[in-house]
Amino acid sequence: IFNFCAGPAMLPKPVMQQAQTEFLNWNNTGCSVMELSHRGPEFMALAAKAEQDLRDIMAIPDNYKVLFCHGGGRGQFAAVPQNLLTGSGKADYVVTGSWSQSAVSEAKKYGDIRVIEPVREVNGKKQVLPACEWQLSSDADYVHYCPNETVDGIEIFEVPETGDIPLVADMSSTILSRPIDVSKFALIYAGAQKNIGPSGLTLVIVREDLLGRAMNSVPGIFNYQILAENDSMFNTPPTYAWYLASLVFNWLKQLGGLAKMAQLNREKADCLYQFIEQSSFYENRVAKQNRSTMNVPFYLQDESLNDEFLRKAKEAGLLALKGHRSVGGMRASIYNAMPLAGVKALVTFMQQFAEQHQQ
Ligand code: PLP
Repeated sequence: IFNFCAGPAMLPKPVMQQAQTEFLNWNNTGCSVMELSHRGPEFMALAAKAEQDLRDIMAIPDNYKVLFCHGGGRGQFAAVPQNLLTGSGKADYVVTGSWSQSAVSEAKKYGDIRVIEPVREVNGKKQVLPACEWQLSSDADYVHYCPNETVDGIEIFEVPETGDIPLVADMSSTILSRPIDVSKFALIYAGAQKNIGPSGLTLVIVREDLLGRAMNSVPGIFNYQILAENDSMFNTPPTYAWYLASLVFNWLKQLGGLAKMAQLNREKADCLYQFIEQSSFYENRVAKQNRSTMNVPFYLQDESLNDEFLRKAKEAGLLALKGHRSVGGMRASIYNAMPLAGVKALVTFMQQFAEQHQQ
């Protein structure tokens, strides 16, 4: 079975196997890790190691805090403005797809949000204008963008230059897929359910000078300074999800880190995009330079075959290929845990399906 779900997504097989082995008795404690106190020495050690492993994998500089939070990506849509929109009260939001649009809707509750829309359609393919053409404001408290739009399959590979204005990125569906220079960002956040672990855990990586700016009204569990002062244990954290994330970080380290992961992801994405590109039966509607390596939306030229395609794919063990309801078509999410074999199985299936239906 290969599961192409956009999230919650597959976890790496070795991670699931290890979790299964130690489900009832973790680290000779006689308990499941989910039954242990988050303040006990065993869990505290696990939590610290998870953070250190993540710092190593992403090369996170010392002047950044790593927070393990609740509330998912949408929680951060609210937490970011409540923590940062306290200078001019203005922020620039770059909208490249449905998730950055949702971030705008939430942020508008807290301040003056300026929307920048750099997506253009050229020859039926969507592309994003280079960041130097975004016309950002000079007085924004921060600039928010989403480097990988999970629904639309649009990825921005360059990191926008925003000078002294803090750059905030929703990396929910791109984090850990390739190396990034953390020092170029003021704040990175990501829901865990794609490349980190199970849903219920949210990562925030925040530069220390941005702490302590929050609105008085921000709930304690969303206040970055309070979370940082309490090592993400201001309230009971999602301990089991944190544990699974620790196994994922360890798996990534063993694999060879993010450079290796990026190479594997590139191979998978190239395999699928190249097949779609040479086919007259399927179509991808994103320009080459912005094609996501994680989420590959595609359409059948004859959309009346969609239901049959999905049914037969499921019978072939290829799950969750239905595109998001807002855009239709198909979507193959090929996050870190998806092996190349899964992508090859999908391509073989797509080829056979096309052959059976092409006149
Ligand atoms: N941002 C992006 C890029 C996403 O893909 C998602 C969910 O898939 C979200 C935000 C919302 O995350 P959550 O469901 O954890 O609130």
